[in-house]
Amino acid sequence: MRRLGVPFGNSNQNMDVIVIGGGIAGVATAYHLRAAGHRVCVVERHATVAQGATYGQGGTVLPTPLDVWFGPTFLASRQNAKNGVINKIGFNGAARQFVRQLGALQEPEAFARQFGRLRPLIEASRDALADVEARFGLEFEQASGLLYLVRSEHEWQQSQPALELLRQYEVPHHVLTPDECAAYEHSVRTEPEFAGGVLFDQERTANSPLFTKLLKQTLDAQGGVQFMHGCEVSAIRLDGQRAAVELAPRAGVAARSREVDVIHADAVVVAAGYGSLALLERLGLRLPLHPLRLHTLVAPIAHEECAPHVAIVDAVKRIGISRMNHRLRIAGGAVLQGAGQIDKPLGEAVTTEALALLGQATHDWIPGAARISAALPWEGVKLLSPDGLPVIGNALHPRLFLNVGHGPSGWGLACGAGKLVADLLSGQTPELPADTLAALRADRFQ
Ligand SMILES: Cc1cc2nc3c(=O)[nH]c(=O)nc-3n(C[C@H](O)[C@H](O)[C@H](O)COP(=O)(O)OP(=O)(O)OC[C@H]3O[C@@H](n4cnc5c(N)ncnc54)[C@H](O)[C@@H]3O)c2cc1C
Repeated sequence: MRRLGVPFGNSNQNMDVIVIGGGIAGVATAYHLRAAGHRVCVVERHATVAQGATYGQGGTVLPTPLDVWFGPTFLASRQNAKNGVINKIGFNGAARQFVRQLGALQEPEAFARQFGRLRPLIEASRDALADVEARFGLEFEQASGLLYLVRSEHEWQQSQPALELLRQYEVPHHVLTPDECAAYEHSVRTEPEFAGGVLFDQERTANSPLFTKLLKQTLDAQGGVQFMHGCEVSAIRLDGQRAAVELAPRAGVAARSREVDVIHADAVVVAAGYGSLALLERLGLRLPLHPLRLHTLVAPIAHEECAPHVAIVDAVKRIGISRMNHRLRIAGGAVLQGAGQIDKPLGEAVTTEALALLGQATHDWIPGAARISAALPWEGVKLLSPDGLPVIGNALHPRLFLNVGHGPSGWGLACGAGKLVADLLSGQTPELPADTLAALRADRFQ
């Protein structure tokens, strides 16, 4: 049995904290915990950080009302090709219930209420990320400008509640006609006709795995955060005043004894992405988060004169196209399956359908920009909650904290979420309003 930390006497200071998961959520949480004075151990089953969903991100740093994964335009059509989401849930009751709950947020007032709860976390995340950038001067392929494009007049009408929220919260943006879109971004064509666009010239895309690795290097240099790579947590133990994690035997290493490798600490943060569900279920906590498979294509630029200089987002289909050096990264192509199916291979036909959505969106909006035939595909799994918001905060036991379920918009949000976990764990009053905190807690599902 291994002892990482010592049981603490003072409830709020200098704790030993285990963070499970080395994606953006885990590393950002470790950063904020260290900044709050705690000693941290990040346990990651892969050989390095940012190998899970964080690796496949589409670049969009923070969500807007136009591309959060709930609201009037999300899953609004029964046709996969129109939604940008391939629905393979079959007749699984739990999955259908999940879609019904998300569907309730298509109603404009419910959407506005829910976005209002999320918004303070978006702004806190913006501040948290800016603070890290200012302190360490990190370069992680940041690029300003996102142009959201909407195809049909019907979809433009469905987008109006989102535009109303942009006005209400005074988010800097410009509503553009198709001609204005094409004048601003030369790679966008006005034929075939489309309804219009919304330009966010102050929003950004950036490279999430690169940021995660740079932040880890910063933590390595500063000390106080230990990274245990190649270690899989098999169980969490919560006994009275203590917390601990059990490690699974490493593959290929002969078991020297029957003793389980256990690390003790004062608190455990679960930030293990899709892997969080199994760990929490073993503790008796069943969260109604649903796995969603997402795809990326990384394609070489075909013709430089056709390549966009800002990121393009197919707003209704939630497909983002961002430039990273001489490549275009095209992300989206979500597949909604029954939860029990997610560990099985997707099957060639569905994968082809998902990747075709990405190729088609690129061809529709910026023809000639990318060599899709030479693109490298990737897929990853993210957890999405039935109310579109992540799960952040204390749960089940005073020493257990969660930072999970960011859905397909966890890149920037993970930074504010990490700060929130550090505040809660340190006994500090978070800067977020009470209704946001309540909307993020795990017990909201009860
Ligand atoms: C294709 C795609 C495109 C996306 N595009 C965007 C975008 O444009 N903008 C945006 O904001 N978000 C985007 N997202 C979502 C974003 O990438 C995620 O929300 C974010 O990366 C979540 O980070 P995470 O740390 O929670 O999860 P992950 O990155 O999955 O990290 C979890 C980590 O936990 C580890 N782990 C799991 N179980 C265990 C265990 N038992 N023991 C030890 N380690 C364990 C895993 O190995 C993994 O490294 C996209 C996601 C995908 C898949």
